[in-house]
Amino acid sequence: MSLTPKPESRAKFAPATRLVHAGRDPSGQHGFVNTPIYRGSTVLFPTYDDLKHRRGRYTYGTHGTPTSDALCDAWSEIAGAAGTVATPSGLAALSIGLMSAVSAGDHLLVSDSAYRPTRIFCDEVLKRFGVETTYYDPLIGAGIGAVMRENTKAVLVEAPGSLTFEMQDVPAIAGVAHARGACVVMDNTWATPLLFPPHERGVDIAIEAGTKYLSGGSDLLLGLTSANAEYWPVLNRTYHQFSVCAGPEDMFLAMRGMRTMGLRLREHERQALDIARWLQARPEVLRVLHPALPEDPGHAIWKRDFSGASGLFGVILKPVPEAAVAAMLDGLELFGMGFSWGGFESLCIPFDCTPFRTATRWAPGGPALRFHIGLEDLGDLKADLDAGFARLRAAAGTN
Ligand SMILES: *Cc1c(COP(=O)(O)O)cnc(C)c1O
Repeated sequence: MSLTPKPESRAKFAPATRLVHAGRDPSGQHGFVNTPIYRGSTVLFPTYDDLKHRRGRYTYGTHGTPTSDALCDAWSEIAGAAGTVATPSGLAALSIGLMSAVSAGDHLLVSDSAYRPTRIFCDEVLKRFGVETTYYDPLIGAGIGAVMRENTKAVLVEAPGSLTFEMQDVPAIAGVAHARGACVVMDNTWATPLLFPPHERGVDIAIEAGTKYLSGGSDLLLGLTSANAEYWPVLNRTYHQFSVCAGPEDMFLAMRGMRTMGLRLREHERQALDIARWLQARPEVLRVLHPALPEDPGHAIWKRDFSGASGLFGVILKPVPEAAVAAMLDGLELFGMGFSWGGFESLCIPFDCTPFRTATRWAPGGPALRFHIGLEDLGDLKADLDAGFARLRAAAGTN
């Protein structure tokens, strides 16, 4: 009897089933359920001839181990990719993805809503290597053709933007980009491949900050870059040349997180939608930025392309002095203030994109907050926010 369904027979299973079984082979490890942590640099070759021809799947620690194969093969299966590499952070996954897609003299288009450190990487590192980056309106859709140049080699999308939540029409952008020979690179961290299968929707190279939902515990830094058959060879070579391999313990933790990621995402979605609707009804709130809400301008695209939402969304408050927002946030008991997200705990941070947007103007009409809704009791979370709004009103003098 086989101890786990064979990879070739897993294609018939739903994503939830694959998430449990992908990247494991108990029959090859004495029946133990999980792939163990292989630590190591040197890999011994049995003969002179084997060494001379680098024969064998494993040749050196940085070139792959059974642990990295387990994680990357599982991710490829879930993302519908030809191959995946694991990096020590999400930003490293992004830089390797972009470095695989562009060369000196190329032009790169990046959504104005992209993750800020992505912009900095393009504006500083890629620029030094002769790649010019320009930013485009995230809502551009098929209009991307108008900002493409002769030498545009890649278009970076992020849907929704992980700070401002504009929904991008990825299939429309990919259709135009591919017709002009450009590569589509996507930061898919918000949805994960479970809610948005990137390579089925026209993405060539997809990035996941495993630091977020794959970990689920705020205890891990990891990135995954996956590619379709066309871009997998160049991604794989670029990755090995930079040698940005993730550590074995982190990869093990990522696989552990993967088994429960579907379950956690469903709960984050349910909790976040409940809080988002509750916030919509608050007198202090101007609007909620969440593509799964029918009122959101990106809702139709979200509904067409995504099978669910995660736990991260934005809120625009009615205008109040900054000190009132500070009074609200400083006293929160359950919502932590800090970067990153995707863990079990709720978070809330203020944000302002005015200083760095270049293609579009960020003028939401009031102070902006980003929420990540964790797994705490909804009543407790609302009571915490309710008290926060009371502090905000008192500080603003609108009580
Ligand atoms: C956090 C994040 C990253 C980077 O991940 P790190 O592991 O922190 O480097 C990339 N993209 C998005 C959208 C993120 O939220």
